[in-house]
Amino acid sequence: MISFAGGLPAPELFDITGIRAAYDRVLAEIPRQALQYSTTEGDPELRTAVADRLTDRGLPTDADDLLITTGSQQALTLLTTALVEPGGVVLVEDPCYLAALQTFAFAGARVVPVPTDDQGLIPAALEEIAAREKATLLYIIPTFQNPTGRTLPAERRAAVAEAAARHGFWIVEDDPYGELRYDGERVPSIAADPTAADRTVLLGSFSKVMAPGLRLGFLRAPAGLRRACVIAKQAADLHTSSIDQAAAARYLRDSDLDAHVAGMRAAYQERRDAMLEGLPAALPEGSRWNRPEGGMFIWVNLPDGHDATALLRTAIGHEVAYVPGAPFFSGEPDPGSVRLSFTTHSAEEIGEGLRRLAKTFA
Ligand code: PMP
Repeated sequence: MISFAGGLPAPELFDITGIRAAYDRVLAEIPRQALQYSTTEGDPELRTAVADRLTDRGLPTDADDLLITTGSQQALTLLTTALVEPGGVVLVEDPCYLAALQTFAFAGARVVPVPTDDQGLIPAALEEIAAREKATLLYIIPTFQNPTGRTLPAERRAAVAEAAARHGFWIVEDDPYGELRYDGERVPSIAADPTAADRTVLLGSFSKVMAPGLRLGFLRAPAGLRRACVIAKQAADLHTSSIDQAAAARYLRDSDLDAHVAGMRAAYQERRDAMLEGLPAALPEGSRWNRPEGGMFIWVNLPDGHDATALLRTAIGHEVAYVPGAPFFSGEPDPGSVRLSFTTHSAEEIGEGLRRLAKTFA
């Protein structure tokens, strides 16, 4: 089976040597501290290292602005606990990351989809919806979105910040993929826009740059909301694993994460390009797809009459898999949409997978 379905980082690219060395040093040098309970806010050295990385990337951040979370998924849960009451309105891009939709649904939120186009969320549509709904928050993945791979241009980011300031909703900016850029220029974070700085929360993750099994993420939020999230986290798990945080901090001190990420970017770029090269021959006439500048996903729209969910069975018969796009929609689903992940197979395997996909549509 060649699977373009999972949203997983490539395991052969994990820096196992560096991560193992970091755990070894922590257990040799600070074993009692690393195995003891610690503070809810998170390991001070790790928070300082994350704050420095964000500051270097144009988002001035202090260690105290951050809460370390058990993956950025937990940050979503904590924010939802802190902000969303049953019936409360949560605005989302349509389509949107599935596990975020689940988190909002568990809290009894009323999820309202905001239409998107090839450049992501449409500001005029957001404005129209925000004028009619009393929204609590907008959840948005502006860079290399899951599931579409799209990146929201700077003007649209500014429009989102203005809408949040005008209508008084929170922006939850989820950015697990931002460091995986293969070409083009970095677009500044919405959190760096002063217009809505007091109502923007940034979520980050070590999953895509280090390893998802560490379950390490972080949340950068204004003081009042951050305190509410700290209280919610105390109730959820007291704190994120002390030893994992200490090892990550040690890794950031002793290893060169940027060099490691540069290696990942080179590998993923080659895989993205292999997929883009093979798609024209693999997809039926009239299909459309995008060319993401980074991240892990390409978004395909099969022509009218093609149902990606129904076709998946045929694809699996040819030993290739993908994720149908329909479940990512909270509005009207596009039955011909498909999410393809290009990260976990070599360029050769991607070529072979696409030849199998072509048989699915033959
Ligand atoms: N947000 C988005 C958009 C994701 O795609 C993912 C994971 N695939 C997460 C959050 C959760 O990541 P983490 O491993 O940091 O919990």
